[in-house]
Amino acid sequence: MADDRKRQRHGNASTMPNQENPINSVPSIQESSTSRVSYFALGLTLKDIPSPTPCSYCGASTQKELLDYEVKTDSLVIAASPAPGYGCTECGGKMFAPKVFLKLLEGAAKEARKAGEAHLIKYLQKEIALHKSVVSLANDSAS
Ligand SMILES: [Zn+2]
Repeated sequence: MADDRKRQRHGNASTMPNQENPINSVPSIQESSTSRVSYFALGLTLKDIPSPTPCSYCGASTQKELLDYEVKTDSLVIAASPAPGYGCTECGGKMFAPKVFLKLLEGAAKEARKAGEAHLIKYLQKEIALHKSVVSLANDSAS
């Protein structure tokens, strides 16, 4: 009974397509020199931040300064154009106003999303959530 079926199968000669061997042309080792750099700007000036408050590290007076901000992974550097912050006149400590720092985190998160950096996105989202609660507590408890 099965013999007939076997013969019929033989008659149906379908050619097997050749299996294509994909060539791995993408190098698996990423050197730090090949890191992508992604820039973003907040467009804020020193006039956009409140008056300096005493240094949170040593208590000395601070002055308004434009500060660099950057987040790095093995393959990506996200850098903000200089953003307004504060520099301590005594210890040299650098600080951002909470609202500005939140914007920096959000800007960096946007770039991380564009680049598909999953770990960095997770990290930044955590930081954003943390700082959002700080900023909303400091400014308005309406929501
Ligand atoms: Zn200080």
